[in-house]
Amino acid sequence: MKAVVYQGPRDVQIIDVPDARIERPTDVLVRITTTNICGSDLHMYEGRTDFETGRWFGHENMGQVIEVGDGVDKVQVGDWVVLPFNVACGHCKNCERGLTNYCLTAQPNPAWAGAAYGFADMGPWAGGQAELLRVPWGDFNCLRLGEDAEQKQTDYVMLADIFPTGYHATELAHVKPGDQTVVYGAGPVGAMAAYSAIIKGASKVMVVDRHPDRLRLIEEIGAIPIDDSKVDPVEAVTEMTMGLGADNGCECVGYQAHDPGGQEDPTLTLNRLVKSVRFTGEIGVVGVYVPQDPGATNDLAKQGKVAFDFGEFWFRGQKLGSGQCPVKKYNRALRDLVAGGKATPSWIVSHELGLDEAPDAYEHFDNRDEGWTKVVLHPDA
Ligand code: NAD
Ligand code: ZN
Repeated sequence: MKAVVYQGPRDVQIIDVPDARIERPTDVLVRITTTNICGSDLHMYEGRTDFETGRWFGHENMGQVIEVGDGVDKVQVGDWVVLPFNVACGHCKNCERGLTNYCLTAQPNPAWAGAAYGFADMGPWAGGQAELLRVPWGDFNCLRLGEDAEQKQTDYVMLADIFPTGYHATELAHVKPGDQTVVYGAGPVGAMAAYSAIIKGASKVMVVDRHPDRLRLIEEIGAIPIDDSKVDPVEAVTEMTMGLGADNGCECVGYQAHDPGGQEDPTLTLNRLVKSVRFTGEIGVVGVYVPQDPGATNDLAKQGKVAFDFGEFWFRGQKLGSGQCPVKKYNRALRDLVAGGKATPSWIVSHELGLDEAPDAYEHFDNRDEGWTKVVLHPDA
């Protein structure tokens, strides 16, 4: 089968690899129809992780079941399924508490928790940017879709990661009807956090970034764009909230934050976010921070130490939640919003391409080139 194989920093190629197959009775084999490139893939693509050459990416996957193991009860051949990016066993201590983002079985490193398809340090699982994908613990890890699955592929595939992750940011920040919410980052995850806040009934959603195309897009869904290359975002948010600050804030940037001039500064977003949120306000951080970042440009950041201004945070009496999204917790409800026509997250999609076009697409998406907001690949095209 063909897959988007990592060859080294900023180098992916379409290569023939051994077909994915059923290896254990609880496996499900999926023919991938739809698979996204994610901002999280870029950490690996840029060579900032120990992702091994020869492996392939792809944790935002959807497709049709073509084979099931003898131990699979629920999922059937022919089912259309979307696959939460968290690979989870369903029976460990964390999964039983609903924390599929910290599964203890799917992650072989006892010092870690949580696993994903096609990801550095997140277990041995192959990615879905390929023609076929093996889904372990298939009954647990497949979310079945209705008859509209094929027609609404670009909506449903967003349930694998960015829609629930954006939603998770708003849950960590406890966004409620009427709230005024600020989101840092207008990438796909920030866009979905803004969209989720709007779905929840926030009265004002402000989004900070500096890419005009991304800011234009979030304006289309009714959010207010703040271009931090033109204005001080803390001042802008303070002004828009009658001097009080936002009720809640979502961090959807991660450790690769830059200042508008292009200098890397992982401290920038959190410090600005704390100052943009009111006293006792709440913050959800879904942007990824890591224990080590050898690719960072300063020594503290290399050790994962982000000089976050805790004094300001404490003084304001704020609360902060963080971490990977437990996709399963949200994606039935979000699926039903899509099925009921109440949510159409495909508005984020800028490109639908065949697998062969992935190397070019990675380059554009990594450069944050104008108009490249979200790439959907169709291995069956
Ligand atoms: P992306 O890189 O496409 O988007 C990030 C956006 O942040 C860009 O538009 C960039 O211009 C903007 N930005 C950079 N520095 C900024 C700053 N200082 N202030 C404001 N905006 C700034 O990535 P994405 O796909 O949207 O993902 C965002 C983050 O979410 C990444 O760290 C990704 O790994 C993470 N993520 C987390 C989870 C989870 O489960 N927690 C899941 C998916 C993705
Ligand atoms: Zn993703």
